[in-house]
Amino acid sequence: MAKKDRLDLGAVLQRDKESYAIVPHIPGGICTPDTLRKIAEVAEKFNAKAIKATGAQRLAIVGLKEEDLEKVWQELGMNPAAAVGMCVRSIKFCPGTTFCRLAQQDSIKMGLKLDEMYHGYKLPAKFKIGVSGCPNACADSWIRDIGLIGTKKGWKLVGGGNGGRDPRIAHVLAENLNDEQALELIQKIIQKFENVKKPSRIGKYINEIGIEEFKREIGISDTTSGEGQVDLTNINEEALYNLTYGLYVVGSVKDGKVNAQIANTVIQVTSEPPKISVTLHKNNLTHEYIKDSGVFSVSILSQDTPPHFIGTFGFKSGKDVDKFSNVKYVVGKTGAPIIVENALAVMEAKVVGSLDIGTHTIFVGEVVASDVVKKGTPLTYEYYHKIKKGKEPKNAPTYREEPKTDSAKTGEEYVCKVCGYIYDPTNGDPDNNIEPGTPFEKLPDNWTCPVCGASKSDFEKI
Ligand code: SF4
Repeated sequence: MAKKDRLDLGAVLQRDKESYAIVPHIPGGICTPDTLRKIAEVAEKFNAKAIKATGAQRLAIVGLKEEDLEKVWQELGMNPAAAVGMCVRSIKFCPGTTFCRLAQQDSIKMGLKLDEMYHGYKLPAKFKIGVSGCPNACADSWIRDIGLIGTKKGWKLVGGGNGGRDPRIAHVLAENLNDEQALELIQKIIQKFENVKKPSRIGKYINEIGIEEFKREIGISDTTSGEGQVDLTNINEEALYNLTYGLYVVGSVKDGKVNAQIANTVIQVTSEPPKISVTLHKNNLTHEYIKDSGVFSVSILSQDTPPHFIGTFGFKSGKDVDKFSNVKYVVGKTGAPIIVENALAVMEAKVVGSLDIGTHTIFVGEVVASDVVKKGTPLTYEYYHKIKKGKEPKNAPTYREEPKTDSAKTGEEYVCKVCGYIYDPTNGDPDNNIEPGTPFEKLPDNWTCPVCGASKSDFEKI
């Protein structure tokens, strides 16, 4: 008879359709050497094929025989983690103020409390929680059903995030919460979620009813969230961060030479006739070309655009390199180069007006041709910044300096002098197949910055 998962024994059938994996519960992935030894000894005794560190901060023992499962659990003396099923699957938390020098809140204390309250708690759909001690959000709080992020003023509560096939960044639900307030709101969300008529992930539910209605349903008031109280005596730059942008390649031509650059400031300004505007820094070569030729093209980038492509067009100058040498593009009726690679849609326009705004010029162009290249999700600035960990060149109209991190003092991180990307050995560089834990010194000599393509020698220790 074909084998099946043995959920009664917390065991999941593996790809070979023969052996099983089990996952002992280790809250937050924090354990003693004794626990690690016990797991290793039991894995060895029962001839497990591997021990695998999982994304939920657990250790899976993989490749066990079905007849050994009961004995394995007895010898481990541990409980199974809620790795499958409709329940609170995982509460991921970072080292917080207990260990991390950057932490602003005690994420271990909060994570353990949430784990004690909700790990394995039955719900109509799967549910994940992330607790991070500071805005670096190492516990993936932005892509969890519920996330907490430590700030100097307390916890920021975010909800509706999701990783996997349908990635989604969580909404900010409330800010400046103390531990009790955060726990109370999480309890309300979970109670609400327990009774939804149509089970789905929270993000989908929020999409259906709208974020304001969701907040109303769980009783988040303006006072709790800090909303509705404004101070208009100063400029709060954080307010500007709420403006949303896409990411585009803007191209132009001058004397038969072509150039293009990344811009996040393309918007449609009228519909009949369709006109678009783009704002570029006066020092940029594309600015010079548009001023000269009076034409420009726009390619709307897809969400899966690789970082090195953005690096080429966003962090290198056409004065120094030929950005078009390895890129697929066509020349439109205006003569502007139109990049098709990584684009969802393209258009070209003739300039009908411009406005000098000091460091930058706003060009307004009437669209003379446009087409859809393929279906897909457009790359937004928010996705680029939060999920792809992308940086912004200094000439971007929306440039803001990255906050310096104290981890610089560890001497392990290196910063790219071209684009500001930080190589953190903890994460490695998945885009270039560099394993987490690889020190900068051990990177191959031909390794290049995953964002802008700068060479290893362009990095300096921070
Ligand atoms: S830097 Fe990361 S590990 Fe440290 S407190 Fe912030 S989120 Fe947690």
